[in-house]
Amino acid sequence: MLLAATVQNDDPIGAMIFFACIGLVAIVHYAAKRSQGKELDQHLHRSFTYYRGLSGPQRSSFRARVVGFVEEKDFHGRGIEVTREMETLIAACAIQLTFGLPEMALAHFTKVVIYPDRYRSRMTGSDHIGEVNPGMRAIVLSWKHFTGDYAIPDDARNLGLHEMAHALWFENRIPNDEYDFLDRTLMQEWRILAQMEAEHIHAGKSRLFRDYAGTNQEEFFAVAVEYFFEQSVQFKKELPELYKVMAGMLKQDPTLPPLRGIVFR
Ligand SMILES: [Zn+2]
Repeated sequence: MLLAATVQNDDPIGAMIFFACIGLVAIVHYAAKRSQGKELDQHLHRSFTYYRGLSGPQRSSFRARVVGFVEEKDFHGRGIEVTREMETLIAACAIQLTFGLPEMALAHFTKVVIYPDRYRSRMTGSDHIGEVNPGMRAIVLSWKHFTGDYAIPDDARNLGLHEMAHALWFENRIPNDEYDFLDRTLMQEWRILAQMEAEHIHAGKSRLFRDYAGTNQEEFFAVAVEYFFEQSVQFKKELPELYKVMAGMLKQDPTLPPLRGIVFR
């Protein structure tokens, strides 16, 4: 303001040029942001089934969250060049999972590491297609499997959502700005229901989930998230109590488009 006042007092024409330049920069900046927003909207509309099911205002909020997530993370390619498409779709996956919750970016996890395909894990020494490593603060994904799983939206196999679910589970327990955000009462109910269903799985009588869900509660949650988004109608039908608790925890219900972002009550 001081600079503008000085320019205006000493040189009225200079002041006019000064303000005209500021106006032009603002218009160019606004136009560039609008163009980026449109490009992102088209990209998500084309490539992301979940996004297509949202209402207009929800899409706008979804895009803002995607941009925020990409800005928050360091993306690293291992044997693959990281593209804007990769950043956008991986961010969209994280936002899909957390869209009903207050805006969050899985803050503990500062890095997203992308491999082209299956890779040898530094943590376990064996081959993986994805993992979450809280010590390294990293979410690791095979791009081939990430995209391959999204290409089939209803088989309850989704590597991205599975790993983001692990990250969310950790994030809820790691003391930081994003901590203890999952409703404690619902978590308690969820643990009881998950234990009961795990016993069905161990007895070879799973009502829906693949056997891997019975490994432990972390894996049960990650697998349940895959079913929650990809076979939500069957999940709600076969395991209604568990579905209701998960919808309450994540504050969204994928069986009710376009109200996914609306808090489940
Ligand atoms: Zn897992």
